Amino acid sequence: MVEMTSSRRLHDWEMRAAQTVFADAIDYNRVRVHEGAVWTNTLDDWSRRLRSLSPRPVKQHNAVALGFHCFFPVKHIHPVAQVRDVNASSMAWMLHELAHVWQFQHMGWRYLLFALAAHLREGGRVYDFGGEAGLRSCRRKGWKLQSFNLEQQASILEHAYRLLTTGHLNSTWYAYLNDVD
Ligand SMILES: [Zn+2]
Repeated sequence: MVEMTSSRRLHDWEMRAAQTVFADAIDYNRVRVHEGAVWTNTLDDWSRRLRSLSPRPVKQHNAVALGFHCFFPVKHIHPVAQVRDVNASSMAWMLHELAHVWQFQHMGWRYLLFALAAHLREGGRVYDFGGEAGLRSCRRKGWKLQSFNLEQQASILEHAYRLLTTGHLNSTWYAYLNDVD
């Protein structure tokens, strides 16, 4: 059976979860979530092939954010009433894509060029920010969240959200979270 793409706005609980990271820096009402958009995986398969990167792991999916539109290849998360019931990985994935929306709001469509350039330049390492140790040493050099490439930024915020939900957010992460404006 062919799965159809469906579009929706953010659920209220997704908005509340996103606000823990982005506060009011995102115009949440303009965000549209598209689920079942299988082309996002196909796009990733082709771009990996073109760049001679290893194939996408079987259970890993690829999402794409274009402006206010977040495209996911699968049905996302089931509506729940309480943030504490949210599937953390699923929401972290959403947070990653919302980071691109946040970048779009700040930079306009330039964000897309910068993101693509980072992918071409860094290949499979494009998301790698060096973990907490990397964050700490970069901070000592005066780096902010915005000093990282756009995929690293999204990765950092995604990780920060995971730590936030489990109560493990320390001062290193908090400093970068504070850079969200
Ligand atoms: Zn991304």
